[in-house]
This record gives sequence, C-alpha cells and structure tokens, in this order.
Amino acid sequence: MSIRLIFEKNTYLNDVQEIPRAFVPYITLSDDGENFLSWSHDISGDVFTFTIDSDLFGKKVYKDSFPAEDSLIFKKKTKYFAKNSLYLYLSQALGVKLPYGSLTGVRPTRMYAEIAKTSAEPKKVLIEEFSVFEKKAELIEKCALFQSKFINRDDKSVAIYVNIPFCPTRCSYCSFISTEVFRVKKELPIFVSCLKKDIETIFDVIDKKGYSVRSVYVGGGTPTSLGAELLSEVISPLSNLGCEFTVECGRPDTIDPSIIDVLLKNNVTRVSINPQTFLQKTLDLIGRKHSVDDVFRAFSLVKDTSLNVNCDLIAALPGETSEDFKYSLDTALALFPENITVHTLSIKRGSELNKDNFSKSAEGDALSMTDYSFTTLSDAGYSPYYMYRQKNTADNLENTGFCRDQKVCLYNVDTMEESCSILAAGAGAVSKLLEPGGKITRFSHPKGFREYIERVDDTEKRLKEFFLS
Ligand code: SF4
Repeated sequence: MSIRLIFEKNTYLNDVQEIPRAFVPYITLSDDGENFLSWSHDISGDVFTFTIDSDLFGKKVYKDSFPAEDSLIFKKKTKYFAKNSLYLYLSQALGVKLPYGSLTGVRPTRMYAEIAKTSAEPKKVLIEEFSVFEKKAELIEKCALFQSKFINRDDKSVAIYVNIPFCPTRCSYCSFISTEVFRVKKELPIFVSCLKKDIETIFDVIDKKGYSVRSVYVGGGTPTSLGAELLSEVISPLSNLGCEFTVECGRPDTIDPSIIDVLLKNNVTRVSINPQTFLQKTLDLIGRKHSVDDVFRAFSLVKDTSLNVNCDLIAALPGETSEDFKYSLDTALALFPENITVHTLSIKRGSELNKDNFSKSAEGDALSMTDYSFTTLSDAGYSPYYMYRQKNTADNLENTGFCRDQKVCLYNVDTMEESCSILAAGAGAVSKLLEPGGKITRFSHPKGFREYIERVDDTEKRLKEFFLS
C-alpha cells in the first residue's frame, strides 16, 4: 500500500519520520501515495500528547507525562515517546513487529550508553520504551558493556586507514567503488606511488600534532589484489608502528604464500578472510568467483602464524535458508578464527543485486540467522564487540563483530563509536577529525582512482590544512 506522509515541519519531530521508513517494504512511501499518514503533538505542562491519523488505520491518541524541569531531557524523552507511539501504531495496524522496534540509527550501542546516563536498567528501557526484542536488547547490552573497556579515550591517539579500491571481480551485492584489478594493471604502480605520498603526508601530520597511532587498517576493496610486490610497497612504511595492524584479504583467491610472507615481514597483526558463505551455489550466484576450497586453503596458510583472523559472513544471502546459514556459521566456527563478523545483507542502490530480480531469503529468516549467530557464538565463548545497522538491510537487522579471548579489532570499535580521529589515504577514503567534545569533521579524498592520481598533490596540501590549521 502506498502511503503519503504528512508531518509537522518541526526539527524535533522530523526524527519520527524514520519510523514509517523502517516499515518499508511492508508499506511503500510516496509523495503522491493515495493514503495518508499524519501526526501532530501537543505539550501542556508536563503532559505530552501525540496524535496519529491515517485514512487506512484510523486515529489514535498517545499521552504521557515527563518531568519538564530539564528542557533537553524533556525533548529527548518526548521524541522517543513519539517515535515509539508511531511504531506501536504501525506495528498493530500492519501486524508486523520489527526486531529493533522504534530504535533507529546506525549505532545501537551509543543509544544504550545514552540511556544508561539516566537509567540503571538500559536494557529494560530498550525493551519497554523502544519495543526492541529481548534478544536484540541483550545483544546491544552485551556489546556495549564488552566494548566499553576498548573504546579510545585519548584524543592524541589516532587510527590510520588506507583504502585500496580494487578487487579481483565485483560481487553482485557490492555498492563500494571498487574496480576489477585486471582492468587497471598498468596503472597500479602509479596508484601505489600516490598512496605512498599520502602515507608520508599522514606521518608528517602525526609528527606535527604529536599523535600516537593506535591502529592501522588497510581495507578496500581487496588490498591483496595488488599482488605481493605492490602490497609490500604500500604496507612497509606502516610496519614499525608497534600497534594493531589489519590488512583485509577479503577474497580468499588473492591469498598465497608470497602474500602471507609480505604480511608477516611487515608486522601485520590481523587479516580478514571473508567466505561470506560456505555454499558454492551462493558464491556462484553472487559473483564471488572463488570456491569454498579457496577459503579453506587461505585459512590453512594463516594457521600457526601470529596473525589474528577475522571471517566475514552474510546472513540472508539470495536463496539461502536458515539451515544454509547455520551450516556456514558452524563451518566458520569450526575454523576457530579470533573474530567472526556477521553482516545482514544490505541491498544498496548501485549494486547488481538491486537491479536483478533475485530471490530473497524467506521473511523472518534473517532474524533467525542473526539470533542463531548470537546464541551459537556466545555459547562458543565469543563476545559481540562492535555492531552497527545500515539502511536497506533485511528486516532492519544489524551487523555484529564477535571476538574470542578479548581479541577485538580496535579500529572497528573506534570507527563505529567514532572515538578517535582517522588519518586516511587512498581513493575514496575519508579522514575524520574528532574534536574535543565529540564533534567530527570529515575530509573526503577523491573517489575515482584516476581522479585520485591526478589530484594527489592538491589532496596532500588540503589534507595538511585540514588537520593542521
Ligand atoms: S570483495 Fe568486497 S569490495 Fe570487492 S567487490 Fe566484493 S563486496 Fe565489493
């Protein structure tokens, strides 16, 4: 059913419109939808009244009182109340419950921390006032409490991120800007020399600002698609920082003994080998162009080395059932990596999957898959240590990184919690400056790799101005 939203042009209530959006695809939102949904509010002393109306579902009034002495807290509490009222209204009208209820936004653990400032039982608040499912509230709580000891608190501590936007082939669900490496072989050496310039600039900034480096993350794309020699050129200037050092090796078909040798020689501490699924039919369907055996082979190459390993899986891949996903998770667990990250499929605009009429997993399967991950990994001794939610994700679910033996990836925690500045290099990378008080300003590097090469000197100048002025 197509619904037109009519809402007050009021900055405070604009947040409420996130709720009907969370119910897509159960409803369609359109500026010229034939049915309307509207809401309005009224404040009288400490009583807040929220009225919702729709020609399809009728009119309903929600009312509660909130202590009005602190206007900021009053505003926040009434905003949450309005959102949850609209959630309950739509949930009842459509007969659909969303696992995260009226909790919107990218960072559920941040909201947990926010609630914990005024409540001794934040999990209970999530369940009762945001209609979050109990299991999801438990996940958020476990993650928030576990990660709190790892979040950066030192404003002189920074992370370095290097983006390498090349992959062997493009996966059909991918929305990143990543070029198939075989198409640009000749341009790779010049790209790498630009990256090295960028990295020098970063060290200059670090030196002048008196920063210390807490983590390095080389991602993309698939950095290992550069091959051993060029990868070595990129990572060797970063090899003596004595901190956490991750290199994404996402596609297992890019990993061979020479790559492992380069990683170990350059003091890399963590790699990511990403099967996504252990079903060959799905790998073929999503254009990964590698085999399940490639994954096992890649794991055998890192076994018995000093490298910590992350293993990415995706829940709700096309055509997969809950049983298929369980098989993948159990197989990943049997490999016993230090980290397992469970993503929920997000179909973004720009991905091939979005254009194709692919067969989705059955409704509700994504929830059972993510719940299975949480239970199974918790039972196996893993803890959730960072999590986030994205738009266009099956059932509005989450992505969660799990770790065993306290082996978190600090870079992931800091990025999701926005707890440290990031000095970035490479096409499409984004540098972030965290100012005292938590304000974040961003500097975007040119997106396309050719544009990045052309503008490297200008970017270098502007990056210095960004961090040093
Ligand atoms: S490996 Fe990652 S970055 Fe590369 S095409 Fe696949 S999803 Fe995109």
